[in-house]
Amino acid sequence: MRVMQKSVEEIDKRVDWWAVLFMIGAHVAAVAGIIKLGLDWWMGASVWFSFVVMVVTFSVRTLSISDSFHRYFWHQSYAFNQRFLRPLQFAFAFVGTTAAQRGPVWWAYMHGLHHANSDREGDVHSPVISGFWYAHIGWIFMLRNKQIDWQSMRRWAKFPELVWLEKYYVLPPIMLATTCFLLGGLQAQERFFSGAFTTVLVGFFLSTVILYHLTYAVNSLGHLRGYRRYPTKDHSCNRLVLAFLTAGEFLHNNHHHCPGSASFGVTWYEKIADWGYLGLWLLWRIGVITHLKVASQDAAAT
Ligand SMILES: [Zn+2]
Ligand SMILES: [Zn+2]
Repeated sequence: MRVMQKSVEEIDKRVDWWAVLFMIGAHVAAVAGIIKLGLDWWMGASVWFSFVVMVVTFSVRTLSISDSFHRYFWHQSYAFNQRFLRPLQFAFAFVGTTAAQRGPVWWAYMHGLHHANSDREGDVHSPVISGFWYAHIGWIFMLRNKQIDWQSMRRWAKFPELVWLEKYYVLPPIMLATTCFLLGGLQAQERFFSGAFTTVLVGFFLSTVILYHLTYAVNSLGHLRGYRRYPTKDHSCNRLVLAFLTAGEFLHNNHHHCPGSASFGVTWYEKIADWGYLGLWLLWRIGVITHLKVASQDAAAT
């Protein structure tokens, strides 16, 4: 028993240095993207294309992390039309995975641990328990947080395409980065490589890094500072401006109050900020998704 405990402690402290290296590289590439964009503009080259690609890749992926990874793969606050379940589910999972935040099952599993133990022992990313920076980004680098308990996530294990995506989660971000590179090059025509590098640095890396810090801030800042509409047992709070940038995710206190609800907004301005829900509502209206759960925000916290 003592040997087992020692072995668990050793595993607990190990760091995934590849993940650290990738994170540093992504930040360096993002900064290089800002410099390259500035240089291109200074030299009179067209920069609008890279900028538009960045806005598109950011918007689609912030929406996807919220509506796919969060609201579907963990909370299951809606279902897909059964006739198109497999392709739709896989498409949502694939687009979310391009955000380079690992696969949907891992993301959902970690989020489930957060809801089960919010700001208590067992919460993988609580700023109250472990400090701001560990909750923001440090927890991602710990090898002990890389494992998925497939037994508790068995509802997804029956889909081989999701198991495949979970194993090869590096492929979708590589495909997106390659697409950005090629599109940027083709758009720049005779300046192929210059345009290609600007677009991949800005349209993929800068967009990805901004999305990282907004997603991570829900876990760190979203449990520290902001307004609290509901007296939940955790420290979750809302921030309106950041909610706009995260498709509603930063209405985090509202979400902890009613975790099963697909809608996070309560007031009219929160409902506008929660455009992730608006997207789901539109899909529900045209029959792409069904069983859209919208619990009363006045219901007891669960
Ligand atoms: Zn939370
Ligand atoms: Zn949640």
